[in-house]
Order: sequence, then C-alpha cells, then structure tokens
Amino acid sequence: MPLPADTCAAARRRHDAATLRIGGMTALTTIDFPGRLAAVLFCQGCPWRCGYCHNQDLLDAGVPPAIAWADVQAFLRARQGLLDGVVFSGGEPTLQAGLPGAIEAVRAGGFEVALHTAGMYPDRLAAILPRLDWIGLDLKAPLHRYDSVTRVPGSGERAWESLRRWLASGVAGECRTTWHAGLFDVAELHVLAEGIAALGVTHWALQESRGSGASASLGSGDVDRLASHFNSFTLRKA
Ligand code: SF4
Repeated sequence: MPLPADTCAAARRRHDAATLRIGGMTALTTIDFPGRLAAVLFCQGCPWRCGYCHNQDLLDAGVPPAIAWADVQAFLRARQGLLDGVVFSGGEPTLQAGLPGAIEAVRAGGFEVALHTAGMYPDRLAAILPRLDWIGLDLKAPLHRYDSVTRVPGSGERAWESLRRWLASGVAGECRTTWHAGLFDVAELHVLAEGIAALGVTHWALQESRGSGASASLGSGDVDRLASHFNSFTLRKA
C-alpha cells in the first residue's frame, strides 16, 4: 500500500536535513538571536566573495561537514529546556537543499528558529519565512554598488528582492550592513539608508569596517542622519 503523501514529505524532509553540511557550531549565544538563549549552526558554503568576509573557511561548499546532523540532533535533545532556539548562520544557509528539513526538525524539538542570510535566493527564503521566528538579513550596498562588494553579477537584485519579501512577511528581525569606505562612499551609504527605510526597514544595524583601505569614517552628523530614518539603529565599529 502506498504511503500517504504527508508521510512521504516528512520522510523526504528528514532525509534532506541529514544532508546539511555544518562547518561549525556555537553551543550558546545570547546575542545572535535577540532575547533568546540559542545555539548557532554555521552552514558550509557561500557563492559570494565579499572582501571583508570573516568566515572564509566556510565559503567552500565542497568541504566535508565538521559536525554530522545526527550529532546536532543529539546535542539539541540534551539541551531541551535549556536553550530557546537555534540560529542557522553561515556561510549562506539558504544555499543548501537540506535547510527546510533541518528547520522543521529543530522546530519539532521545541526550539525557535532564527536565520542569518545574505538573501541570495529570494524564492528559497520566501518558502521558509513562515517557519522562522527571527531573521538577520545582510543588505550590503545600494543596488548599483552590490556586485563590486560581492564580486558576483546580479547579486544586488536578488538581495533587494529578499529584503522586500522579508518585509512583506512580517517576520521579526533586523537589516544589517557592513560598510567599508573603500567599497562605496558616505553619500552612497546615505542613499542605502534612505532606500531601506523607504521599503519599511525599522531596525538597522550598521557595522563600520576600519580595515585596510577604509579611507573615511562616519562623523557624528552622519551617524545622526543615518539613525534618523529608523526606530532602532545600532552602530558597531570593527
Ligand atoms: S555573503 Fe556573507 S558569507 Fe558569503 S562571502 Fe559575503 S560576507 Fe562571506
């Protein structure tokens, strides 16, 4: 007798989750999923090549997983009642076909789910948004500057489309940007702030990179003007 369709779908999701390549894990964080005690799973692989990327060892999708999905599940079973949630970070989590099944498995264990993404796959993001409790969307630049940051043609259209889909979903989260003055100037940063605020972003986290080639920095007037577009604005220096 054939299995019911929902049973087959659940079995497929379990199979897909087991394919998730995880390059590392943080067992406890208080900052990556606001208001929650969470573990972070760093998913292996990202097709973009941002010069300021801090996770270079996670970019190659072909690297064997550092942690098997079965071990993640055992870890989470032992943390039931101790952790509130799980953060899928990267690399780029939405690169992997196993992500939706992994999200379902984590939710079935009673945990909330957060996603950190650069928004490079708008359709995949839209499919999982109803299963997320929080999202940190990395929006890198004004549209005309995007490809020079990611070094991938067409990246900006995809990321901005993901931003629109997230905002339409109503899922809680923050838009975040790393700004390096060698990539685009202060005037363009103001264009970016005005653009995301016009779309409906209310919480923006801006990280100012002081790495090599960052020839300019933000003055207090710039910071005040940038912050004025948002209900909540966070500035970090790195
Ligand atoms: S999108 Fe994120 S993970 Fe990928 S290269 Fe850029 S900063 Fe690194």
